[in-house]
Amino acid sequence: MSNWENNIRKVVPYVPGEQPKGNNLIKLNTNENPYGPSPKVKEKALAADALRLYPDPAASDLVAAIAKYHGLSEDRVFVGVGSDDVLAMSFMTFFNSDKPILFPDITYSFYDVWADMLRIPYETLPVNDAFEIVPEDYNKQNGGIVFPNPNAPTGIYMPLASVREIVSKNPDVIVIVDEAYIDFGGESALSMIDEFENLLVVRTFSKSRSMAGLRIGYAMGNPVLIKYLNDVKYSYNSYTMNRPSIELGVLSIQDDAYFKETVEKVIHTRERFSAGLKELGFTVLPSSTNFVFASHKKVPARELFTGARERGVIVRYFDKPRIDNFLRISIGTDEEMDTCLAVLKELL
Ligand code: PMP
Repeated sequence: MSNWENNIRKVVPYVPGEQPKGNNLIKLNTNENPYGPSPKVKEKALAADALRLYPDPAASDLVAAIAKYHGLSEDRVFVGVGSDDVLAMSFMTFFNSDKPILFPDITYSFYDVWADMLRIPYETLPVNDAFEIVPEDYNKQNGGIVFPNPNAPTGIYMPLASVREIVSKNPDVIVIVDEAYIDFGGESALSMIDEFENLLVVRTFSKSRSMAGLRIGYAMGNPVLIKYLNDVKYSYNSYTMNRPSIELGVLSIQDDAYFKETVEKVIHTRERFSAGLKELGFTVLPSSTNFVFASHKKVPARELFTGARERGVIVRYFDKPRIDNFLRISIGTDEEMDTCLAVLKELL
């Protein structure tokens, strides 16, 4: 018997939500946006060179467009293949201490996977009974901090004053604020990147810009952080972003009117849908995102999840402590959410 298997890096991977084949299902399980990207993106015909040539390793056109949109200098922006790529690179770059990194117990379930894969020690800090992050808890020795704001899968937004408290009390480590859902509610920590050189804000085109399939994410922070991130990226893969993503990403971020219109529609539907769920006897956490997190007083979430799947509506269920009686339901069109409510009503 050889021992080669002993030298393999063994990891327990992240499990993404199901991407079912065919389109006769109402898909409310991975927080996609039902409206699709800007017409400027959809109408763009890509030249064959967009496939033949290597992309610009710095993705400068996209960096410039994102910097312009946010009113930042270009040396404050880093782009990657979805915010998952940006976050993974950030873990690799900034979480390099013997002390544990800190994140909430109920949060994006990729954080512990990256930490395990990269051998980064970590400690999870419980959210309170209302599922809110408790800022004071982060006032302890650590090797870095990461949390989404609004948090996922709870959907709860933490006021900027609390984010400021966490960042200001931890000047010796990098604090990453994952703002995947910020366009659907709440104030961004972007306004604080000049003030705090240890703050990195991460965003995505997957949700509010409806481009999950193209894989575009970005980080914003002071130029020294961005430089270190680029050093790691160029030591790993020069061409993380492909040419079509760079080109179409620019067109997307330039169409602000379409962006605002579709974000407003999602928010409006979310409020309507949340009210409908409450009428059916659900407890619904206050959502600042494009999904809701809800629990029924009488019927277990697992049963509702399975029953809805059988009736053609896919939502997300996490079999994890504290949240195993909740459903996470992405916001689709008004029509899709009405069908979802009708299916849940029938199951109850
Ligand atoms: N952060 C959070 C909190 C998320 O829920 C997601 C979506 N799974 C991501 C980051 C990653 O999204 P993407 O890679 O599509 O940008």
